[in-house]
Amino acid sequence: MAPLRMRDLPALHRLIAAPEIEELAQRYPRERVRDALRETVEDMRQRIARGEALAAETVAPARIAEATLRRLDYLDDDGLRHVINATGVVLHTNLGRAPLAPSAAQAAARAGSGYSDLEFDRESGRRGSRQDHLEGLLRRLAGAPAALVVNNNAAAVFLVLRTLAAGRETVISRGELVEIGGSFRIPDVLRESGSILHEVGTTNRTHLRDYEQAIDADTAALLRVHPSNFRQIGFTLRVEGEELAALAHDRGILFLEDLGSGALTTLGDEPTVQRVLASGADIVTMSGDKLLGGPQAGIILGREDLVAELRRAPLYRALRPDKMTIAALAETLRLYLMDGRDAVPAVRMLEAPAVTLKAAAMRLRGRMRRAGVACELVALAGRAGGGSLPETALPSWGVALSAADLEELHRRLRLGRPAVVGRIEDDHLLFDVRTILPGEEGDLVQAVAAAYTLNA
Ligand SMILES: *Cc1c(COP(=O)(O)O)cnc(C)c1O
Repeated sequence: MAPLRMRDLPALHRLIAAPEIEELAQRYPRERVRDALRETVEDMRQRIARGEALAAETVAPARIAEATLRRLDYLDDDGLRHVINATGVVLHTNLGRAPLAPSAAQAAARAGSGYSDLEFDRESGRRGSRQDHLEGLLRRLAGAPAALVVNNNAAAVFLVLRTLAAGRETVISRGELVEIGGSFRIPDVLRESGSILHEVGTTNRTHLRDYEQAIDADTAALLRVHPSNFRQIGFTLRVEGEELAALAHDRGILFLEDLGSGALTTLGDEPTVQRVLASGADIVTMSGDKLLGGPQAGIILGREDLVAELRRAPLYRALRPDKMTIAALAETLRLYLMDGRDAVPAVRMLEAPAVTLKAAAMRLRGRMRRAGVACELVALAGRAGGGSLPETALPSWGVALSAADLEELHRRLRLGRPAVVGRIEDDHLLFDVRTILPGEEGDLVQAVAAAYTLNA
């Protein structure tokens, strides 16, 4: 088929009269539709001028209407598009990890839309510390002597190494030189921090004596990194935290542990932060938006004198969390203390019993069918995601759709408002109910029914 030429581009006045475009005008003011339409056609003109070969269908009114709608929606979005997560992956990093509890989201909204005592001591009327809103809660929940919160766990690890180990050696097992999602690699973070990496042991086995032999006058710390997103099985050996703590303290150096996923209560085989602190770690770092189920944050827990040093470090100023994060995290922690962990959506989803999920999936199947969407009930295996519980398949339930063009159906759903993301497996589009939040089911059914009719 011959590529599109300039003169194949439809005239604006003709396009505007097309029923597909007329439909847009019911959703957006006519002026804005006209502007977006003009931009869409202009965009095509420029692409042809650059020598791009556009397919003839590109100028079909339906395709132009679709491109125009994307443009209109984009300008209309308030930043991020709401996504219904039907993947079954609870801590989906690309979809924003943990969804906040409604009260935590409200706390963030309140903090954002007004003034607060962020750094204000109401008793004296003088300057206070933003960390005070969190430190008491964290000390109580984690049993830590002191706490400091920064923007994310990568920042927490960086601040700790930079402040406590720069210019000296940090000893770490070769089995723990891990990569967490592309840009966070322990050896790189260590190098950037100015600390000198001293690797010991082998990929699968590291002994206590390997650490013992590595320590000398240049050693600042032993670092233990939790293998968050993978598990080693077979002929492996990892030294327990208690032993490393004892060794470090005997030699007058620090024992640091990067816990990453950081559960506050027992979830699967993940170590809890309390246990790691009790093992004798001087400093523990963890994420706020993984198993804890709060906003993006890096939580540093441990010895009072060390935390005070981190707080005084010039780098801390560049990593400090903002008021909305503090409000959302404080409220999430308060929920653990006052309402129990089931009040935290991520925890609730991770722990949802299969019977409850099956009932929800049956209800969803009924609603889908009533909306004209043919689908089946399926047993699924969900995942925690976010580099947590990598070996734990979460038995789950959902519905499966088949369609002539599954990829196109999924694409339409992703582009919708709200967007819907499921997963395609074995010639079916699957929606796992575990991660569909309360109140989202109606929107999901509506979105699927609309996309499905176009695609059936
Ligand atoms: C996830 C993770 C990090 C990075 O945490 P972010 O909150 O994503 O910055 C660092 N270390 C470990 C062990 C992790 O699991």
